[in-house]
Amino acid sequence: MIAKKHILYAVILLFVPVFLKAQPGPGYWQQRVEYTMNIKMNTDTHQLSGTQHLVYYNNSPDTLKKVYYHLYFNAFQPGSMMDVRSRTISDPDRRVGDRISKLKDNEIGFQHIAWIKQDNVPVTFKIEGTVMEVKLNKPLLPKAKAVFDLQFNAQVPIQIRRSGRDNSEGIAYSMTQWYPKIAEYDFQGWHAYQYVAREFHGVWGDFNVSITIKPSFTIAATGILQNPDKIGHGYGQGKTVADATSSELTWNFIAKDVIDFAWAADPDYTHTQVQVPNGPVIHLFYQKSEKTEATWKKMEDTSVKVFQYLNEHFGRYPFNSYSIIQGGDGGMEYPMCTLILGEGKADGVIGTMAHEVAHSWYQMALASNESLHPWMDEGYTSFASAEAMASIMGMPNPHTGAYQSYFYLAKSNLQEPANQHSDHFNTNRAYTTVAYSMGEVFLEQMKYLIGEENFYRGMKAYYNTWKMKHPSPNDFIRVMEKVSDMQLGWYLRYWIGTTKKIDYGFGVVTDKDGSTYVEVKRVGEFPMPIDLMVTYKDGSQQLYYLPMNELMGVKPATLGANRIVSDTWPWVNPSYVVKINRKLSDIESLEIDPSQRMADINRTNNKIVLSEIVPFQNTTK
Ligand SMILES: [Zn+2]
Repeated sequence: MIAKKHILYAVILLFVPVFLKAQPGPGYWQQRVEYTMNIKMNTDTHQLSGTQHLVYYNNSPDTLKKVYYHLYFNAFQPGSMMDVRSRTISDPDRRVGDRISKLKDNEIGFQHIAWIKQDNVPVTFKIEGTVMEVKLNKPLLPKAKAVFDLQFNAQVPIQIRRSGRDNSEGIAYSMTQWYPKIAEYDFQGWHAYQYVAREFHGVWGDFNVSITIKPSFTIAATGILQNPDKIGHGYGQGKTVADATSSELTWNFIAKDVIDFAWAADPDYTHTQVQVPNGPVIHLFYQKSEKTEATWKKMEDTSVKVFQYLNEHFGRYPFNSYSIIQGGDGGMEYPMCTLILGEGKADGVIGTMAHEVAHSWYQMALASNESLHPWMDEGYTSFASAEAMASIMGMPNPHTGAYQSYFYLAKSNLQEPANQHSDHFNTNRAYTTVAYSMGEVFLEQMKYLIGEENFYRGMKAYYNTWKMKHPSPNDFIRVMEKVSDMQLGWYLRYWIGTTKKIDYGFGVVTDKDGSTYVEVKRVGEFPMPIDLMVTYKDGSQQLYYLPMNELMGVKPATLGANRIVSDTWPWVNPSYVVKINRKLSDIESLEIDPSQRMADINRTNNKIVLSEIVPFQNTTK
């Protein structure tokens, strides 16, 4: 249906200029960093030493008297907060367990800071756990910049989670959260959280990183390699490992407009590249073996398709390069790259790749504070990668699993509100379900509230308004409100701020003067608008829509759908009576939300087949 497609494109083109001009409000500001780091990696002692030159721009309206840095490697020491948390939480991540408590001196991680200077003058600092507080000599005024220089020496821990050395798949170095990283300061103040288990937040800026290492190692990293011809290793036409005569090689990477810098190094990496049409070059780094080869070959093709799908539906990937790196542990997203496990079942590895690639949209472009709002990064990423993989694999209903996992949590006694710091959930299970599944359901359910077309238009508008910035939950909701012309703050407050549940069912069904009166009941505390499908005995169907007044609007009807919009349902009313203009004996069945996008925790009361439920007929007049 080419003609129809052209009309659609014309409509989209009319909208595009509006979105490209979209900007955050005039009061929005964000800090900026420019890092230059020179790193020397000693592969015998597993220690690195480095200098860091950081230009820090205070774009806030505040005068800063202190700054904070994260020193994440300090978490990998017996007795650290990460260790204690893992040993005391009721459902620990089995990959961590009590492993930190057993690390020997030459296996722990640490970050030692030799000195720090502010504008060439030494400053005092204090380290507690994974956070360093630096007292400024000179207050940093609004709209001013400071230059911080420091020297550090670090030991790479045995890999426990994400970063570390010599993991179970035999990758030498997974270098993530590896350098002294200045904490984010925003409208909520400092985000100098102790590293306990998960999630990060970063300042937007540029990285220029030089890493000196033995020439046998291949490095994969955030950014673009600046000296490929000197390096070789599959990057350029330069010398190969075999004819490298020097005892070390210096790799120089530059990344612009990113929130972090990650790298990995291994002497046995195979490096291949594929090109996404009109998109980035994808670099793949893995240890070739019978456990990896077929999967990583297949991944070349699938990763291209994932990028194409996400570009088309959620906005254009903002960089021209992306690296998929075997890091040997789970999967974790970083700017312009990911570290994922390399072995295991192909479906699992490739599914993980798709998830981490989707983080390039939901975290590496739309850098929400994932510590405070993990559902905005894990949930949105799960949503986008599920849709991409379902489309590529030709599978229906990509979000069913997320609903099931939410229902499971909602029926347990472990559910907690989503709007808390991701490290502070009582259980890992509650965190995981809230962040991944409830975040995914939040979006799928948004389609139910505002309609599919508004939803995808909104996702692109969100991307174009907030990419390379730090959107908050409210910023997302405001975009969706503007696109749909509906009021959605209540939905954010209920779904993210509370553990209230959605449950609708039927009350009394009566017959009077040739019409049928159907009572719909709000059983749960969470109000929603209702799609009610009436199926007649002659096989025809009629959709009724019961708007809920907090929305202050009516979603557009699905194209071609035969829909009647009823009067508004005030959210305080526990029940509502719909008038159907046909007699009861014509009706075969009644169903609430036939699309099953509303996260109704009890679907057993959502449908009644009238012939089966005799007591409901003509019970009252
Ligand atoms: Zn994720």
